[in-house]
Amino acid sequence: MPQEVILLKLGEIALKGLNRRKFEDALVQNIRRRMSAAGEFSVSSRQSTIYVEPKDDLCDMDLAEERCGKVFGVVGVARAGVCEKDLGKIQEKAGEYLEEALEEASTFKVECKRSDKKFPLKSPEISAQVGGYLLEKFPHLSVNVHAPDVTVRVEVREEHAYVHTDPKPGAGGIPVGTGGRAAILISGGLDSPVAAWMMAKRGVELTAVHFASPPYTSELAREKGKRLLQKVAQYAGRVKFITVNFTHLQEEIRDHCPEDLNTVILRRFMLRAADRVAKDENCSALITGESLGQVASQTIQAIACTDAVATLPVFRPLIGMDKSEIVKIAYQIDTYDISIEPYEDCCTIFTPKHPRTRPILHFVEDGERAIEGEALLEEALQTLETEWIYP
Ligand code: ATP
Ligand code: MG
Repeated sequence: MPQEVILLKLGEIALKGLNRRKFEDALVQNIRRRMSAAGEFSVSSRQSTIYVEPKDDLCDMDLAEERCGKVFGVVGVARAGVCEKDLGKIQEKAGEYLEEALEEASTFKVECKRSDKKFPLKSPEISAQVGGYLLEKFPHLSVNVHAPDVTVRVEVREEHAYVHTDPKPGAGGIPVGTGGRAAILISGGLDSPVAAWMMAKRGVELTAVHFASPPYTSELAREKGKRLLQKVAQYAGRVKFITVNFTHLQEEIRDHCPEDLNTVILRRFMLRAADRVAKDENCSALITGESLGQVASQTIQAIACTDAVATLPVFRPLIGMDKSEIVKIAYQIDTYDISIEPYEDCCTIFTPKHPRTRPILHFVEDGERAIEGEALLEEALQTLETEWIYP
């Protein structure tokens, strides 16, 4: 019996009815993969809780706890002391294991859950007994059932008893892999990594497509995209990163297409290219970081013109969000500082002075005929460079 384990509380998965098994299995797999760097753990699912149990003393419990907090499908992370199912042992364990928290608190309460109905005491009795013991051991404490500084939680489960305080919030969402696969168009900006994270949160496995136009864009811009994805991968798991060279295509658009339609035409080619790469990579949707009205290419009319060339559904999880809301998530997932580094992206080179904010589809299609679009697209798709991004 380990001295300490991590108990993970499940969210929506618990509601999945007949599919629940599939979701739980995927979640357990994802957690096993993420725990491997923290040591040898046994990960198993029993009674709506996932047990993450160290197999030896070499396990890094802090790292394991941090990583559990970034696994989608988990709503609560509780590091818990373990003991035999015996009232005296439970009292002692609570006093020892939660000593620090109880020393710092002035008020507390005890809540007990007993899933082993054979245990001789009922939950309220266990709570009362443990509470009494703690009051004696920590005389500075008093009980407050409505707003305690610390809630001591006792769980009497099938094999052992566990004591912990309130679980820390988990990442929420549903397990990555259960929602299929989609291609995120990743720039080096603030928005696309947040969009990637939001879709991974809904169970989607990610493949990333990045457009580069060297020498107008620098290698550092591409590196930035990769570093952003490394952060996202801590939640989403490893991500395939595919770079498409757009230099020639962009030069042709700049030199031959109507200037005010440059941006929307470029975006149509990005979507066409991403659509083809995505299908080759078994993705069933595209994801972008667009938010309505943020820039000229993100008006309803411009989005309609870009969507017209995609055959896969295009998800835009940020469409209704304010910049400040996006920034908040960027901080939370630690992408903000990387995103604001100043490197030119292929969307920011050759930008027209007055982009059309309400492009009309047939004018855009006419404007596009000035270049050999299909051949240029083929050429770009011959340049694919693939690498893996790990958390
Ligand atoms: P971001 O902050 O993600 O760069 P943005 O607000 O700057 O977004 P745009 O630059 O117009 O907006 O890009 C809109 C979306 O198009 C991005 O969120 C991203 O999904 C995609 N995109 C833009 N540039 C690239 C690129 N170089 N490679 C791949 N996708 C891109
Ligand atoms: Mg951008």
